Amino acid sequence: MEKDAVIYIAGHRGLAGSALVRQLEAQGYTDLLTRTHAELDLTCQADTESFFQAHRPAYVFMAAAKVGGILANNTFPAEFIYQNLAIQTNIIHAAYRAGVRRLLFLGSSCIYPRECPQPMKEGHLLTGPLEPTNEPYAVAKIAGIKMCQSYNRQYNTRFVAVMPTNLYGPNDNFDLETSHVLPALIRKFHEAKKSGAKDVVVWGTGKPRREFLHVDDLAHAGLFIMNLPDADFDRLAGGSGAPLINIGTGKDISIAELAGLIKEITGFEGDIRFDATKPDGTFQKLLDVSRMTALGWQAKTDLRTGIQSTYQWCLDHHVF
Ligand code: GDP
Repeated sequence: MEKDAVIYIAGHRGLAGSALVRQLEAQGYTDLLTRTHAELDLTCQADTESFFQAHRPAYVFMAAAKVGGILANNTFPAEFIYQNLAIQTNIIHAAYRAGVRRLLFLGSSCIYPRECPQPMKEGHLLTGPLEPTNEPYAVAKIAGIKMCQSYNRQYNTRFVAVMPTNLYGPNDNFDLETSHVLPALIRKFHEAKKSGAKDVVVWGTGKPRREFLHVDDLAHAGLFIMNLPDADFDRLAGGSGAPLINIGTGKDISIAELAGLIKEITGFEGDIRFDATKPDGTFQKLLDVSRMTALGWQAKTDLRTGIQSTYQWCLDHHVF
């Protein structure tokens, strides 16, 4: 990407989008294009199309999406499938029509089958049934990947999809009802320490395993991919497989271990109680990150350091 190219970051206020903006600015990109939800409704096809025609971005990072944790996905399935399908359909088609040079679509590791062999490889896409708690979201994301693939095949576009593992970091959602596990636990342990509560309730059995990636590592990986030489980028975008690449650390931990780590970092001294009436979701979601490793990229932030800095960010920004 040329340092003065017009680069559109859809969803620039969210966890991933804001990290992409920070990373682009840090690397000296000068012409970043952003719109708030109030300024541009990406579920509206006509508005999205006019926006692309008016501004003609050269590169697009698609971090706009309806996202949420296990409870939110279970409670609002219609919103998850509708908003994601609409946003990505509108952006991908408008990007093709406006001649966008490269586009990076953000998916999620929940697109892989529920019973997927671990670690999960890109080639496991569509080889088995999905996890029911987030199936509508996953189906939308799979459609996005297939759109990238189809447009690349028919129109020779350069659209690729990255599948990050569970992300965390600044600007995450810390609402206890709708957030993912890591921000929820930071908040729960912090508040329990403040109020002097005896215990903290962790949903499920604590046995499921998850892999966590600091969002700054994701942003670094995103720019790395968008800047790959044409031959490497085209190997990702073309070929017979889906234009898909996993981004993670290659390591996972159990929810019980995560709770123990966050308890230690926040300094809570009470007990951890598991509420097995809440869903566990998929048992394990560990990504095979060998494609990224082969390209010469790996995650830098270790989990303890990443949680510590995220907790500090919450305290500095009075998030709760
Ligand atoms: P998932 O990765 O799509 O399943 O989404 P989550 O991050 O919401 O949940 C991951 C795992 O953490 C599940 O097994 C949850 O039951 C468990 N978990 C434990 N406590 C919490 C909590 O307070 N909030 C959330 N969202 N998940 C929790």
